Amino acid sequence: MKAFISVDLEGMPYIVIPGHLSLKGSLYKEARKIATKVTFIVAEELYKNGFDEVVVADSHGPMVNLLVDNLPEYVELVRGYPRPVSMVAGVEEGCDVALFLGYHAKFGTTRSSFDHTYSGGTINKLEINGNAVSEFLLNGYAAGELKVPVILVAGDAQLLEDDVEKYAPWAETVPLKRSLSRVAAKSQSMVRIEKNLRKAVARAVVNYRKNKVKLLTAKKPVRVKMTFQRSHFADVAESLPMVNRIDGLNVEYEASDMIEGYKIFELLVLAAHGTTYLLELRK
Ligand SMILES: [Zn+2]
Repeated sequence: MKAFISVDLEGMPYIVIPGHLSLKGSLYKEARKIATKVTFIVAEELYKNGFDEVVVADSHGPMVNLLVDNLPEYVELVRGYPRPVSMVAGVEEGCDVALFLGYHAKFGTTRSSFDHTYSGGTINKLEINGNAVSEFLLNGYAAGELKVPVILVAGDAQLLEDDVEKYAPWAETVPLKRSLSRVAAKSQSMVRIEKNLRKAVARAVVNYRKNKVKLLTAKKPVRVKMTFQRSHFADVAESLPMVNRIDGLNVEYEASDMIEGYKIFELLVLAAHGTTYLLELRK
C-alpha cells in the first residue's frame, strides 16, 4: 500500500514568526527541523501500519523545506516548485490514502497562524462551487478527484475545528498548535505531539481498512471564483478565455473537474506573482 503526505509549514508546532517561513528567514533552520521531525514520525507510523511506500510532497513556499538527510528508504520525496497540482503533486501515482500535515486556516480566520489561502500576497478568497475553501479543502478535493481519501489532518486547531470537522468528519485530526494570534501560538511538547500523531495514524489506518473514510468530492463542472488582493491580478487573469471578470477583484471560471480547476487556479496565481515581480522591476 502507498500513502501520500502533503506538508505545509504554517500549521506546524512552534512556527510563529515570518522568519520561520522563508529560505533566508532567521529561524528557517528551526522550522525545517520541526517539519522534518513531524513528517518522519507520520511516515514511520504509516510504514509500521502496513504502508510500504510513502510519497511526501514538500509543499510550502519554495517546496524544499524538508531535510533530506536520513530520509527513510520507503519515503519518496517530491521537492521544488512550480509543479503540476502543487501541494498534491505525487498523489496521482497510485496512492491509497492522503494525509495533510502542518496545514493552516484560510485567509480571514480569527486567531489562526499565518491565515492565508494558498498565496497570501495574491489571494483574498478562493471559492469552489460557492463555498470559501482552505488549502485543506482545495487539496482534499484534488485528491478526491483521483479517488484518494484524506484520512488525517494535523495542523492549526482552528482549521481542524472549522473545515476538517465540517467537510471530512471521518478524518483523524491532530492539533499541532492553538493560535493566540496570527503570529503567536501554544503547542504541546514534541514528545506529546509524537504520541498523539502515532495514535492518530494508527486509528486513521484502521478507519481506512474498515471503509469508514470517504472521498472529498467537488460537484462537476467545478465553479471556481477567485478574489484577488489587488485589481491588477484580475486584469491579467481575465486574459484567459475561460475566465470571466466579475468586478475589480473577482474572477470566475468553470472547469471540467478538480484537477483542471486546480491547474487553472495555479496558473492564475503564478501570473499574479509574475505581475508583482514585473512591477517590482519598475520601481
Ligand atoms: Zn505554507
